[in-house]
Amino acid sequence: MNLHKLLFITLILVFFSCKKTEKQKINIEKPKFEFGVWTTADKDKSNANYALEFEKYKNAGIDEVLINTITDPLLLKRIVPIAKEKGLKIHAWIMTMKRPDDSIALSHPEWYAVNKEGKSCFDTRPYVDYYQWLCPTRKASRNHVLGLVEELAKVDGIESVHLDYIRFSDIFLPIGLLPKYNLEQETELPEFDFCYCDTCINEFEKVHHKNPLNMKNTSIDMEWKQFRLNAVKRVVDEAYQIVHKYNKKLTAAVFPYPEMADHMVRQRWDKWDIDEVYPMIYHGFYNEEIDWIGFATKQGVQDVKHKNIGVNTGVYLPPFKSANELKTAILLAKDNGAKGVTFYDGNALTEDHMKMIRNVKKSLE
Ligand SMILES: [Zn+2]
Repeated sequence: MNLHKLLFITLILVFFSCKKTEKQKINIEKPKFEFGVWTTADKDKSNANYALEFEKYKNAGIDEVLINTITDPLLLKRIVPIAKEKGLKIHAWIMTMKRPDDSIALSHPEWYAVNKEGKSCFDTRPYVDYYQWLCPTRKASRNHVLGLVEELAKVDGIESVHLDYIRFSDIFLPIGLLPKYNLEQETELPEFDFCYCDTCINEFEKVHHKNPLNMKNTSIDMEWKQFRLNAVKRVVDEAYQIVHKYNKKLTAAVFPYPEMADHMVRQRWDKWDIDEVYPMIYHGFYNEEIDWIGFATKQGVQDVKHKNIGVNTGVYLPPFKSANELKTAILLAKDNGAKGVTFYDGNALTEDHMKMIRNVKKSLE
């Protein structure tokens, strides 16, 4: 073999090996579209029954489970290995500011959020009896919540601590839910407007030298709105520092897109320190059509893409009339930039849904 020939063969080999590396690289880096479910744990359920539940999800093409253990780290510890054994990622889902039946919080009535009428969630709850909201501004109630987040973050094997109800109580309920409560909400109603506790009023006055209780129209006072958006952000940002100390991520279930979340529950999630969000794009709650899922996904994705925050579109299963409709929602979420779709909840997945998810997953590989 002469030198030229040798050189030529070497070049060809180098070319093909580069090609292969390039291709491998592309395969590794191609983000996988993921499917998840929210589900609630039961401490009386056996490990064998959890194994069955998780196997059902895995067979359906589900990648991750967001599990509510009622903030019990021991129960979470028991469940995590079962989910991992089935090849599922698992997140610790916590009810953050809304803490019904929290025995520690209940021994501190001053921790609860107070409405504009001066009534506390400790004994007067908006909408439903389980709406027991803590004040995000008061140091003791905030630290209580962050302590619970820390206990969950310590559990080995979880992907993230997943904050839910990380907001104020709804100043406006989703429009589709109003008839259920026989309510009309065309303005901010004092009964549903939080938090006017002593700590919130004092902290606000210190900075802005005005008292919200003396304002003619609190709904147009930008500082008062911003104060409350910042109070929620502070809890999230502190939780972010805590969970990252344990090498876990912080994720959250949030309202459909940032401006809507701001308007309805004082939650501006595009401003948070957070790894991923799961906006609850529940079209049935808002009397919207399926295509709205694409619209809302896109809104959120565009708002946080510069911060590298992943968006997983959350969908509420009952209003879907068929598996095919659900498939449309999945593809709309994907086409509008979501990194996955999460279903509420796991138990509501039918055989038809699961068959469709498996097929969609295969078609996306
Ligand atoms: Zn307060």
